[in-house]
Amino acid sequence: MVDSEHENFDPIEISEQQFDQAVCYIKEIKKGLVDFLKKPKAVHIVNFPIEMDDGSVESIQGYRVIHNRVFGPGKGGIRYHPDVTMEEVVALAKLMTWKCALVNIPFGGAKGGVVCNTKELSESELRRITRRFTSELGDNIGPYTDIPAPDLYTNEQTMAWIFDTYDVLHPGKNNRSVVTGKPVEMGGSYGRYEATGEGVYHVTERFLSKTLIAGLHTVAGARVVIQGFGNVGAITAQAFCRNGAKIVAVSDSQGGVYHEDGLNLEELAAFKAENGTVVGVPETTTVTNEDILEMECDILIPAALGNQIHAGNARNIKTKLIVEAGNSPVTPKADEILCERGIYLLPDIIVNAGGVTVSYFEWVQNQVNQQWDIEEVNTRLQKKLYKTLDAVFDRWQGFVVGEDKPSDDETIEKLNDQKPCFRSIALSIAIERVANATLIRGIWP
Ligand code: NAD
Repeated sequence: MVDSEHENFDPIEISEQQFDQAVCYIKEIKKGLVDFLKKPKAVHIVNFPIEMDDGSVESIQGYRVIHNRVFGPGKGGIRYHPDVTMEEVVALAKLMTWKCALVNIPFGGAKGGVVCNTKELSESELRRITRRFTSELGDNIGPYTDIPAPDLYTNEQTMAWIFDTYDVLHPGKNNRSVVTGKPVEMGGSYGRYEATGEGVYHVTERFLSKTLIAGLHTVAGARVVIQGFGNVGAITAQAFCRNGAKIVAVSDSQGGVYHEDGLNLEELAAFKAENGTVVGVPETTTVTNEDILEMECDILIPAALGNQIHAGNARNIKTKLIVEAGNSPVTPKADEILCERGIYLLPDIIVNAGGVTVSYFEWVQNQVNQQWDIEEVNTRLQKKLYKTLDAVFDRWQGFVVGEDKPSDDETIEKLNDQKPCFRSIALSIAIERVANATLIRGIWP
């Protein structure tokens, strides 16, 4: 048995493994294009000083990576986390390229990160970091070049500061679409804050309606465990609960809570707002972050950090379906083990694409200075995600029943008799679209 200590957690290595696996499901792709699509277009590393509230000075490092712009400007969140690395940001920028291509929106892939611990910073320190980071990025971001959004430990307020800084530096233009995920009062879209979590629900419900999993044809009545109770985790919990699921356990960075009959989400949110954690909610059992992933449930939803399900714990997972609401929570080794064990997995590239989809809607609204009502946003979101899930499912089915099986011996050997997984199939659709578009545009000069 493989254990997590012998597993390579390098995010670039992981994204390349996933890419190589997906390419096996593409009938024809030029070798040079494969090499090109594996690499980021540009990586910006910035270092700057920040004056802290007590008068001391700290040195801060930040990254913005553009992976690909074949379909349009770069699009991707900015995360603030002490463990952010350039490699992680590169891998996440690639994921954004595939995500935008899969849901068919006219953006390329990008991502940003700032190495800092938001829990140890005051609001004014965070504002200064955000403004300085934005000014350091200069014209590398912009409404038609690269459009950031919120991610781990960044939010609507962060986006408002980025917009304001960019607007001050670029007067006389409509700069609203330089970022998405802004406050609604400041050009944000109704439904953007909820979009990722609502999307997690739509994708899961549509998938379950295909009746692939015995006894689990809808989220109604399902027992659900969610790791992470931030924007994505908490909204996902609400959407699932509203549609009849029982959320039996959730966790945050400090640990988790469990209740056999289902948690009261309002109580949980109020407790977290007051205490900064869900741990300690009255009449719940406290569990560790490791235990929560291994609890028996129908649907397990990791909605926090990367590499949470790995070779070391994949054999202990006791669920029927894993829904990757967060980015990259399951490693390739774990993918293999889960597949062997017959546990289905819906990948991040489609599951959390609701966020970037409504970001695109926000960008469109900003172009014409309009604001759609919430019903319009939600209807368009559901339609886009259903269409995407159907495309992935149909292609997957084609491979399972053998209609679309790769014909050359080399590819068949590479696939090593593996069953096609939804990650590889979804990625293969996206990679194929970007590769085709590159050739249709014509390689310059
Ligand atoms: P967030 O900052 O709002 O919340 C993160 C949550 O994760 C917090 O509850 C935090 O306590 C928890 N957490 C941190 N470390 C943990 C640990 N070790 N174990 C359990 N929980 C832990 O961030 P978010 O916006 O909800 O993003 C969550 C994930 O979803 C990230 O992977 C992000 O890249 C991805 N994502 C977010 C969006 C979006 O629109 N916000 C869109 C697509 C993907």
